[in-house]
Amino acid sequence: METWQRLLQESIVRPGDLTRRFGIDPQPLEKVAELYPMRVNPYYLGLIKSAGDPIWRQAVPAEDELHDTVCPADPLDEENQSPVPNLVHRYPDRVLFLVCAECAMYCRFCTRKRKVGGDKMHIDQETIAQGISYIRSHPEIRDVIVSGGDPLLLADERLDWILKELRAIPTVEIIRIGTRVPVVLPQRITPALVRILRRYHPLYINTHFNHPDEITEQSTKACARLIDAGIPLGNQTVLLRGVNDEPEVMKRLMQKLLLIRVRPYYIYQADMVQGTNHFRTTVEEGIEVIRSLRGHTSGMAVPAYVIDAPGGGGKIPILPDYLQSMGDEVVLKNYQGRTFTYANAAAKCEPEQLQAANEWAGRKANG
Ligand SMILES: *Cc1c(COP(=O)(O)O)cnc(C)c1O
Ligand code: SF4
Repeated sequence: METWQRLLQESIVRPGDLTRRFGIDPQPLEKVAELYPMRVNPYYLGLIKSAGDPIWRQAVPAEDELHDTVCPADPLDEENQSPVPNLVHRYPDRVLFLVCAECAMYCRFCTRKRKVGGDKMHIDQETIAQGISYIRSHPEIRDVIVSGGDPLLLADERLDWILKELRAIPTVEIIRIGTRVPVVLPQRITPALVRILRRYHPLYINTHFNHPDEITEQSTKACARLIDAGIPLGNQTVLLRGVNDEPEVMKRLMQKLLLIRVRPYYIYQADMVQGTNHFRTTVEEGIEVIRSLRGHTSGMAVPAYVIDAPGGGGKIPILPDYLQSMGDEVVLKNYQGRTFTYANAAAKCEPEQLQAANEWAGRKANG
């Protein structure tokens, strides 16, 4: 048995097993874990410094999950945008293809909390074959996002087979894998897995770090293995109350991602998912996070901040008010709050002005 399989097998799946180590009363949490599965493997458990810290909040059930009266189960309307089971076709040229119902950890804030890890998500050879044939018969699909659950929990051979089938479709240009494995079970990124993945270029991976403490020697090594195989790594972070809602924490996370060569891609406003209301911040706080990044640190450390629109409208970018007004003059505010104006080109293009400008340029050119 490989290390990662052993770690998975040794996962804690009941809150009671945390009592000895952290001295908590597990009783109220057992009910939560019955409704929404718990799985914390020894590696991720080892990142917890104390009960209630940002790592704990992501991994350990909380009573709040049962008291959410605000959020619906499927806010992104994924089920209604699935032409075949486990495939979401929301955008014109790309699809989300769910190939595994299991995860290395059940994140308490998960967007697919309604179905991951339970028997509510039916994925088998039949649904996967249906997904592949849907993609094959829709040549407009040039980008396939392989997700779940976590696709990297599939056995090597199975994943190899799915990727081979997708790669054999001539209209599929890029394949992306969405996985939290480099963060929560980095031991899964074995040399054998990487040898499989690198056969299917152009292949991209987006992973999901939410806190600087998740960047460890092991996760760094896992990312390096993938990147050294020519797989660009992006990161999607969810803005979470009590985890990364302090601008300083988020800035440190983004900077540390660049240190391990992972490019920040998105910061998501937390989806309105039933059982996760206690994780949500205001949108103003999200804007503040972006404001504290842009200009203050490397541009490469600044991802797009998006809200995945409830009802299935897709990801919508949100920016602080850098653009103050538009017209003949564009009024702009920089990261320090200073105002600048830019003369709008189209507004100035009166024929006589253009001629004057050309004559002026001609005189300059002729000395
Ligand atoms: C997020 C998402 C995508 C990919 O969006 P990008 O902005 O291209 O990364 C595609 N389909 C669905 C259903 C999604 O939720
Ligand atoms: S790994 Fe992703 S899909 Fe799985 S529980 Fe965490 S957020 Fe949800």
